[in-house]
Amino acid sequence: EKMGLNEIREKYLRFFESKEHLILPSFSLIPKNDKSLLLISAGMAPLKPYFTGQEVPPKERITTCQKCIRTGDIERVGKTARHATFFEMLGNFSFGDYFKEGAISWAWEFVTEVLKLPQDRLWVTIYLDDDEAFEIWNKKVGVPAEKIVRMGKEDNFWEIGVGPCGPCSEIYFDRGEDKGCGKPDCAIGCDCDRFVEFWNLVFTQFDKDEEGNYSLLEKPNIDTGMGLERIATIMQGVDTIFDVDTMKNIRDQVCKVAKVQYGKDASTDSSVRLITDHIRSVTFMVSDGILPSNEGRGYVLRRLLRRAARHGKLLGVDNTFLWDLCDVVIDNSKHAYIELGEKKDYIKKVIKLEEERFDQTIDQGMIILNDYIQELKKNSKAVMTGDKAFKLYDTYGFPIELTLEILEEQGISIDIDGFNSEMTVQKERARAAREETNYMGADMDIFTTLPAEMVTTFNGYHDTVSKGRI
Ligand code: ATP
Ligand code: MG
Ligand code: MG
Ligand code: MG
Repeated sequence: EKMGLNEIREKYLRFFESKEHLILPSFSLIPKNDKSLLLISAGMAPLKPYFTGQEVPPKERITTCQKCIRTGDIERVGKTARHATFFEMLGNFSFGDYFKEGAISWAWEFVTEVLKLPQDRLWVTIYLDDDEAFEIWNKKVGVPAEKIVRMGKEDNFWEIGVGPCGPCSEIYFDRGEDKGCGKPDCAIGCDCDRFVEFWNLVFTQFDKDEEGNYSLLEKPNIDTGMGLERIATIMQGVDTIFDVDTMKNIRDQVCKVAKVQYGKDASTDSSVRLITDHIRSVTFMVSDGILPSNEGRGYVLRRLLRRAARHGKLLGVDNTFLWDLCDVVIDNSKHAYIELGEKKDYIKKVIKLEEERFDQTIDQGMIILNDYIQELKKNSKAVMTGDKAFKLYDTYGFPIELTLEILEEQGISIDIDGFNSEMTVQKERARAAREETNYMGADMDIFTTLPAEMVTTFNGYHDTVSKGRI
């Protein structure tokens, strides 16, 4: 009998509870008092004040399963076996209590004794000159030296926005040659899906400030993060995160609604995976109080939702369907995240409204966009002007990234500077109009009642996509 995703989560939290950790529920996806992050993208992010000593944690040892969004990975979703925009991160944290030795030996104990993963398939990486970590893995835990790989800053130094950071050590699982790219130099660190990184142990020793300076923290901490969907993929011996029990429930429902079969056609499958992923992000974001808008988090939500809606069209779905998919997402996760069950009707209503709104213009917008594409091709041009992209955005509700993506399939790019300047002009016009009418910034948008902390400024396409490394 395979261990289900929900069961793995429970096992992890109970294991660290038995090591005297306090279990805390997941924090909201909306960061509190952290301007360096748009959305929570790691288990440690909401705990930053405890790491820096700004606040006193309820206990020196904490364990959580944190909801995470990483829009930076959006292009990889459905293409790799292991990336999602929404995922759950299991973590155990030490605030000045245990350090490298505790973190490493408990991680190993959990992986080999609780999950019972075969040791000969496991690999670890350490930061370049971290001999201390090497000694612990090699001497204390008994991992052979040839399976401890030293990697550089890109992979084994962890930081997110400002705040606590440090060198890290990661645990990988070798899924076997048949899951890999087959290239002769394929080895740990290869970007294919053979060696899958599933757990990152961060030795938080530094604090990074706004200017990028690192200072030593008074007491070193531990921050670990293990992707729940990833470890479930490994435990269940399936191909991708989309084959994990709970994910498959959603995937099956997508196929049912779209009347397609999974595993028959590559481009169909890729749309199915994309929708399966995005509907999770959307459901969890709405449950945490994010509403579709043209700025900040609301824009991320809108973009994900509209991208999923467009892929629904590609599959031949001709009515709104995303709001209905929420049921299976909620059923999968409502025991771990009670807010999902409690807000079910609200979540569905918000998604339905946004879906209907996009549905009214998407067909028309696609016709216009196809005209633009034909015209460009006729004139052998490969760059679409900013004003055209802006029109699709402004009149037909196409997030710029969506237009970019559709054009990319045709080998066409967009004059982004041109788009951004149209955007600035529009903002300016809207501001002037507001001043004139003293209209308090309200338009006919039903979604304008955003809490002040959720409103961020649109600084052009690049800034809204992702912040920092992730
Ligand atoms: P990768 O190199 O595979 O992109 P990462 O190094 O960016 O992962 P970390 O920041 O170390 O990931 O996050 C800790 C863990 O969270 C990872 O080891 C992985 O198990 C999980 N994880 C990270 N990104 C994703 C994602 N997009 N989808 C699902 N799980 C993820
Ligand atoms: Mg990595
Ligand atoms: Mg990592
Ligand atoms: Mg990554």
